[in-house]
Amino acid sequence: MYLILLGAPGVGKGTQAKMLMKKNDIPQISTGDILRSEVADQTELGLRAKEIMARGELVSDDIILGMVENRLSMPDCKKGFILDGFPRTIPQAEGLDVLLEKMNILNLKVIEIYVPQEELVRRLTSRRICANCGKDYNISVKPLPPGGKCERCGGDIIQREDDKEATIKNRLQVYQELTAPLVSYYQGKGNLHRVDGKKSVDSVFDNIEKILLARGQ
Ligand code: AMP
Repeated sequence: MYLILLGAPGVGKGTQAKMLMKKNDIPQISTGDILRSEVADQTELGLRAKEIMARGELVSDDIILGMVENRLSMPDCKKGFILDGFPRTIPQAEGLDVLLEKMNILNLKVIEIYVPQEELVRRLTSRRICANCGKDYNISVKPLPPGGKCERCGGDIIQREDDKEATIKNRLQVYQELTAPLVSYYQGKGNLHRVDGKKSVDSVFDNIEKILLARGQ
């Protein structure tokens, strides 16, 4: 299964990608997660990306494409992968097409998860994350565990710098300008499907599974 999960920040791509990864035993490739780990490790790339991410802007297409090419060449991607947060621009989508052709992958599917903008702002401002293992929390759904420590690893639960309100507005605007055009890009190729992201996590997951099954995956 070769899948892109498309959608604005906060639609639930990461949550669904993790569920699909568990069920199908293929990796979730989140360019945001890769960048955050580069930032945490203070690599050269991380140092360059940190400011850009904090402003809610996009890291350059060349850097991202290099990172993705490297990740897709790893053995765990042989059986398939779920792309989460990539591609985010038309040049990235074109670069991905070239990579997929080189890898002989013809059956890419794209699922857009759609949630209205006002709901996204609410979701993103109440999102929290474990600074250590990356587990997601949302205080509008459930209060944080006692002491604000992660229930999985005991790490500190924090708010991502780019989930603060000022940055969120910019991220949503960047999405509309640079990423939303990918909907027509993939529509034109005939492999775009849409699911309603306002439904419960489980029902979004069921709808994604139905799309994947209906198409022989
Ligand atoms: P995410 O976790 O997907 O919301 O990504 C967090 C931040 O990382 C984004 O706001 C961008 O600054 C950067 N980023 C992640 N993926 C990409 C990408 N495909 N292209 C450019 N920048 C990205």
